[in-house]
Amino acid sequence: MSHIDITLEEAHEYIKKEIEKEIEHYRCEHDIFFQAVEEVLLSIAPLYLADDRYAKHNIIRRLAHPDRIIKFKIEWLNDKNEIRVNTGYRVQFNNSMGPYKGGLRFHPSVNEGVLKFLGFEQILKNALTGLPIGGAKGGSDFDPKGKSDFEIMKFCRAFMRELHKYIGPRMDVPAGDIGVGSREISYLFGEYKKITSTFDGILTGKPLFSGGSLARTEATGYGVVYFTEAMLEIENKESLKGKICTVSGAGNVALHTIEKLLEIGAIPVTCTDSRGTVYDARGVDIAYLKELKFNRRGGSLEEYIVKHPEATYIPASEYPEDGHAVWNIECYAAFPCSTQNELTDLDAKNLIANGCVSVTEGANMPSTPEAIATFLKNKICFGPAKAANAGGVAVSNFEMSQNASMLKWSFEEVDAKLKETMYDICHNVAATAKEYGVEGNYVDGANISAFKKVADVMISEGI
Ligand code: GLU
Repeated sequence: MSHIDITLEEAHEYIKKEIEKEIEHYRCEHDIFFQAVEEVLLSIAPLYLADDRYAKHNIIRRLAHPDRIIKFKIEWLNDKNEIRVNTGYRVQFNNSMGPYKGGLRFHPSVNEGVLKFLGFEQILKNALTGLPIGGAKGGSDFDPKGKSDFEIMKFCRAFMRELHKYIGPRMDVPAGDIGVGSREISYLFGEYKKITSTFDGILTGKPLFSGGSLARTEATGYGVVYFTEAMLEIENKESLKGKICTVSGAGNVALHTIEKLLEIGAIPVTCTDSRGTVYDARGVDIAYLKELKFNRRGGSLEEYIVKHPEATYIPASEYPEDGHAVWNIECYAAFPCSTQNELTDLDAKNLIANGCVSVTEGANMPSTPEAIATFLKNKICFGPAKAANAGGVAVSNFEMSQNASMLKWSFEEVDAKLKETMYDICHNVAATAKEYGVEGNYVDGANISAFKKVADVMISEGI
């Protein structure tokens, strides 16, 4: 046993500081949730004024309160046979529209506040799809980075040993999110089947061979592009064909946004990860990017310029804290597809100065409130996440339908339904904005339309 050479007072000082850090951690944890709630509630003011039922039924307080938060311990063994402990969560936020539905996120930044923010957004996003799905979110502070395949499997199995008690095809149907793709969903599903001996559609985003839907992997990114095309059409702006686009991120959403942009003849010139930005003026080599990020998990974007020396790599460290290289590149349309609050007010101003006319959010809440205000003030076509990235969860609903009917739809069928859904969402949001006197404001249009759908069900069902 070794002894620490400090006085008792110094030890007390140290412990007090550690406790203060812990308290501060919990204090900050919920900031992001209130950011999301405030954005929505301030923008539904026109609806609130037009109809006194929402105040009478105390909808604001009732909607901002999750139905329940399940928090559990996950114990698992790493490859060195050391015992590891993580925290797991499922925030079942609101099931007015249908069974709880929303992804699982595995990332060290996950805490109750982050999942409450994501769950709250999910209620409204799911309502916008017009499909019968309620809102939820879950996950863990587990960091998949650097873990072996075997460790991922052991963690997923341990996670499901707790989660299975709270989910069901008519109750709550989780899916993937950051850090959870079809590999993780497969391990989770395998454990569910072992425990329950049932093959139920309790998860979406499953691989094709175990009940997954064609086009689910592509759905969020493809949907983001379909939404943008619809928005530009409504706003009488030129289409994306032949236009320079900037995209952030290099995960599932970013890759499939880039893929669809290339398919329709646009020129996506960037992708990013936490370490840096790739800028390839000829258009990103999607096949190589997929190879780097999907097939060879965790490959660094720095490798991209080894194969493509004419492209540029800008390390994140070379950029000031409140601005990002990717948003300082000239473009017609921008697609933030990385994570929350990744696009700051400075970034928004840089985009506008460089001629950007359209911004569509692929990630959940990637623009800060200040950045959104700047976009709206400058009449930029701005597609907010809860409308623009709803394609993923819409196809999740199609997967649930296929599972329930024991049928399989073709890729073309799913893709056509996805496109129709994204166009419907966009037209509905634009029409709602017009109806409530905020024409062209897709943020208010989406918030008002979604809030109204959920609130009306809550009022009709009583307490
Ligand atoms: N995580 C995705 C989202 O943010 C998909 C959720 C789902 O398919 O349930 O919408």
